[in-house]
Amino acid sequence: MATQLYINGTFVDPIDGDAFPSVDPSTEAIFAQIGAAKSGDVDKAVHAARDAFDSGCWSNLTAKQRAEALRRVAAGIRARASELAALETKDNGKPLPESQWDIDDAAFCFEYYANLAEQKEAAGAIEVDLGDDQFDCRIWHEPVGVVAAITPWNFPMLMAVWKVAPALAAGCTIVLKPSELCSLTCVEMAKIIHEAGIPAGVFNLLTGFGPDAGAPLTEHPLVDKVAFTGSVATGKKVMQGASLGIRTVSLELGGKSPFIIFDDVDIEKAVEWALFGIFWNKGEVCSATSRILVERGIYSKFLDRLKEAAEAITIGPGECEGVKLGPIVSESQYKKILGFLERVSSSDARLVTGGARPEGFSNGFYLAPTIYADVSIDAEIWREEIFGPVVCVVPFDQEEEAIGLANDSPYGLAAAVMSDDLERCDRVAAKLRAGIIWINCSQPTFTQAPWGGYKSSGIGRELGEAGFNAYLETKQVTRFD
Ligand code: NAD
Repeated sequence: MATQLYINGTFVDPIDGDAFPSVDPSTEAIFAQIGAAKSGDVDKAVHAARDAFDSGCWSNLTAKQRAEALRRVAAGIRARASELAALETKDNGKPLPESQWDIDDAAFCFEYYANLAEQKEAAGAIEVDLGDDQFDCRIWHEPVGVVAAITPWNFPMLMAVWKVAPALAAGCTIVLKPSELCSLTCVEMAKIIHEAGIPAGVFNLLTGFGPDAGAPLTEHPLVDKVAFTGSVATGKKVMQGASLGIRTVSLELGGKSPFIIFDDVDIEKAVEWALFGIFWNKGEVCSATSRILVERGIYSKFLDRLKEAAEAITIGPGECEGVKLGPIVSESQYKKILGFLERVSSSDARLVTGGARPEGFSNGFYLAPTIYADVSIDAEIWREEIFGPVVCVVPFDQEEEAIGLANDSPYGLAAAVMSDDLERCDRVAAKLRAGIIWINCSQPTFTQAPWGGYKSSGIGRELGEAGFNAYLETKQVTRFD
């Protein structure tokens, strides 16, 4: 039996009863059928969200009342954490401990925004000094309205929660469309939200394909804000679709993040972070540091150690103990990555290790950790987001040269710099054109800190206070005394 949609507080089949398969990437076997929403289902869900918003059943509650409901959602996630993590791993292929982090982060995100909403309400209205005693001006913040949220498959539940938690905390209602490649933990989240007693229509879930469900959702005239995470190509379509109305669009898009390593570092630490920066979550990470720039003095030694460490990574099904690299999420993504590797010419780069299916795996979408060195900065693998366990390494001689190479990208999501000289790290960080800079590490992500990109990596910020404000309208109330 296929999973159902969640519309207006009820689990329902899609109007036309259509479904599509979910595939376990470690075996290539179909293990679930997912309800496929189309435009008629989208219309029902958006109307439910609109009616719920306009009724005030959620937006008129106090922040404390909403926060209590969100804490029940967090508790529901924590109570089912092992089951949700196992499901995430089966659907996406990521190692089980990584799914466990995601689920734990998802619960924390609900708690964080519950607390923040309460704190903001307690702080009250902001007074504005107009410089004129005859007038009194206050600023109020109000929920933006009906949110359409569209999310990717690399952190299936967590990427959804980065939108659902702040939107609900702010008092918005929401229609979520997760990726067709990994829908299952979002279906379970809908059950948890239902059990937490959140009023009908406040949260709605539509599983289905981008063109069938995502496009009509972004274009729907009753939507007030579109919050999208995914590729640049789809982001452009989403922006275009959303522009059929006048509304806010936030975009969390791709990246090709650089990692600059100076020669005064501890090479073992540099290798450890470089490895995590690209092979964590199979390299299916928007902020993955997939371009490594190493100061020439340590270039060969670093490469030797990186190769050794990459070849020691345990590959296998995500649920198996000790596995650090699972299968690529789907056949299409696997073929897309292999396509990039097939197009690498001898003038583009030198293959250090990997580049193919690892030995001993006859099925499953497995790819050995792949390292290219001496990469031409014109090569496709240096410039394009591959979104897999593939890293490019180049040497540099001067600080300014490294900064120039790092910034020479249409993307600007994240960047990392490593040196024992912290002044130099700050100097470089100031010149890097990216929304997230890591110093002496790569990838640690905290719910409390804003997340988002410069340039083609997106518009707006998620997480932290900025991620909450993204779901608020600002109203000035000016009184003549
Ligand atoms: P994608 O763009 O293919 O799909 C993302 C979502 O958009 C899916 O739910 C999909 O069904 C939907 N969609 C597809 N076509 C649509 C359309 N025409 N209208 C509306 N929705 C449509 O991306 P993906 O392959 O799922 O995810 C990988 C991408 O996401 C990478 O580029 C990655 O860097 C990016 N990403 C960014 C962040 C970030 O925080 N910046 C986080 C995670 C992933």
